[in-house]
Amino acid sequence: MSLHADEIPMAGPSITDAEVAAVTDALKNGWYGKEAYHYVELFESEFASFHGRRYALMTPNCTSALHLLLNGLGIGEGDEVIVPDCTWVGSVAGVVYLKAKPVFGDIQSDSWCLDPVSVMAAITDKTKAVIVVGLYGNMPEMDKLAAICHSRDIVLIEDAAESIGSRYKGRLSGSFGKASVFSFHRTKTLTTGEGGMLLLDDEDLFKRCHFLRDHGRSPTKAFYTMEVTHKYMPFNMQAALGHAQFGRLQELVGRKREILSLYRQHLADLPDLSFNFEPESVFNSAWMSTLVVGKSYGLDKLQMIEQMAKLGVPARPFFYPLSSLPAFPGNEAYQAKNLIAYDVSARAINLPCALVITDEQIKRVSQVVRKILEA
Ligand SMILES: *Cc1c(COP(=O)(O)O)cnc(C)c1O
Repeated sequence: MSLHADEIPMAGPSITDAEVAAVTDALKNGWYGKEAYHYVELFESEFASFHGRRYALMTPNCTSALHLLLNGLGIGEGDEVIVPDCTWVGSVAGVVYLKAKPVFGDIQSDSWCLDPVSVMAAITDKTKAVIVVGLYGNMPEMDKLAAICHSRDIVLIEDAAESIGSRYKGRLSGSFGKASVFSFHRTKTLTTGEGGMLLLDDEDLFKRCHFLRDHGRSPTKAFYTMEVTHKYMPFNMQAALGHAQFGRLQELVGRKREILSLYRQHLADLPDLSFNFEPESVFNSAWMSTLVVGKSYGLDKLQMIEQMAKLGVPARPFFYPLSSLPAFPGNEAYQAKNLIAYDVSARAINLPCALVITDEQIKRVSQVVRKILEA
């Protein structure tokens, strides 16, 4: 069954014969001996070298990659980890799994990424790590964040789930800090359905994470379990899909940027709107086409989405501040601290930007947005 012609696709992949061929090959041939992990090893090594990293570990998803990493770093009870208040819960779930405390930093009004000033203010002697997020393809101010972490001996981690293919001062997202994680969820720019990747350079940390990924097996003695750990192994068929998608990364990112640029063009004359930020220092891979509706319109994100839905067009809310969610009770004080996060999140939406969306559909969405904002 395929998508109804009238239905505007919100988020999702582009799948071609290349993906079908790779997955078919894995399905037919990828079960015995060296073949069982052929695509996993291929995808891991090409992904690491593309990002200039020494090691890669594919995982069932990005949330598990981050959990694996934080565990490998020895983060646990009593430790604090700074994360941006506006991100997907996957950025912070691992911190909570390990009983460490997430500390929510504010975002910047233009990039919607973690504010270095807010990080400075949030650091205590318990701070063990800072997780930065390339929100919707935007890039954080990596120079400042790296300098802050470096000078205080705090581990910098890049959650590049949404910023694959983005660059900061020419350097690829996912190449910064001690380690980085990626998501290949169905809705991400490069997909394996479910899937994730951990990239890192430190050999000891790699060995520890490798061990933690597969039930704490002895590396030398069969079925000899040393510790009860995670079971976060990747599957060859997913990796085959990842390998084929990776071969098309430039094309996929190119289309994402084109979608954003079409929205910008169609809505260029409307005042008081902002889209994904792309200063000169940033190449933005535009995972989502995100629209912040200026205060002058007096519309919040849910009103906007409801009005769009009535006109047959889907949209999604900008991430809620994590500190405002039922999952993170007792964090009411952040509302007065993370002013930008609460303000931007209240009036921003993601526009349909599936990789299969047509130019005609983007035009239709833009007309609907215009109709609502001009009313
Ligand atoms: C999608 C996403 C994740 C989680 O990815 P999964 O593969 O679904 O676990 C983590 N962080 C960010 C910023 C994401 O967008």
